[in-house]
Order: sequence, then structure tokens, then C-alpha cells
Amino acid sequence: MDCIFCKIIKGEIPSYTIYEDDLITVFLDINPSTNGDCLIVTKEHYENFLDIPEDLINHIHKISIKIYSILKEKLNIDGITLIQNNFYGQDIKHYHVHLTPRYKNDKLTHSYNKEDLLELKKIFEKIKSA
Ligand code: 5GP
Ligand code: ZN
Repeated sequence: MDCIFCKIIKGEIPSYTIYEDDLITVFLDINPSTNGDCLIVTKEHYENFLDIPEDLINHIHKISIKIYSILKEKLNIDGITLIQNNFYGQDIKHYHVHLTPRYKNDKLTHSYNKEDLLELKKIFEKIKSA
């Protein structure tokens, strides 16, 4: 399979791996949003959140906490944002979670077009419609 993350896991493409165990590997994102931006990637190839087994999700959660404490100690981060993209917005079709360290005054923003948003009542009615 022509998957960049599978190649990184097999060691065919280099990465700055900061943690690994039998189930997952954690390496620095090649295009970081902040210092220490990293990805938790499953060793087995699952495409997205529909495919991944529940016990592996639990493991990823535990490792997220471990990575947070490492980054807190080593980089003195002020917070951490977890993002996991699926389908549209997911560039690499191999399950991964972004761990993005936050720093006071880092000015990291999530840009979106407010004008395109429907009012809350309309969205609520669509979601709740039979
Ligand atoms: P997605 O859009 O799929 O949620 O995010 C994919 C992430 O993988 C991006 O943040 C991108 O910078 C990162 N990425 C893509 N190719 C490579 C690579 O070859 N090495 C590393 N370390 N990160 C990569
Ligand atoms: Zn893969």
C-alpha cells in the first residue's frame, strides 16, 4: 500500500519519533503549527475513526496524556489541542491524532467563514428532523 505513514512506521521514510510501543508511534509533524506539534499514528493501517478498534482508542487516549506530560516537562507547554480528521480534511488516510501544544499568546487560530453559518435554530431543527 502506498501510504506515507506505513512507510514511516516501517522505517522507509525518516521521522523524529518521540515515543513508540507495540501499537502506536508518535513523531513530530513535518509541518508544525506550534513547537512540539506531533502525531499519534497507529502501527496498523486503519483509515479513519470508523475502522479503529475501541481498545486502541483507549490506548491512544492514555498515550496522549503521557505525551502531554513529556511536552509539559520538556517544552513547558501551556495547553494541548487534540484534532483527528476524517474524510474531508484528512490528507493522510491512515488514522492519526494531532497533538498540538498550545502556548500563551501563540496566536493559533482555527479559521472559518462565519458568514456561511446558518443560525443555530435552523441547524438544530435540521439535526432533530424526522
Ligand atoms: P491530516 O490532514 O491527514 O489530518 O494531517 C496529516 C499531517 O501529516 C499533516 O499535519 C502533515 O504535516 C503531516 N505529514 C504529512 N506527511 C508527513 C511526513 O512525511 N512526515 C511527517 N512527520 N509528517 C507528515
Ligand atoms: Zn498506512
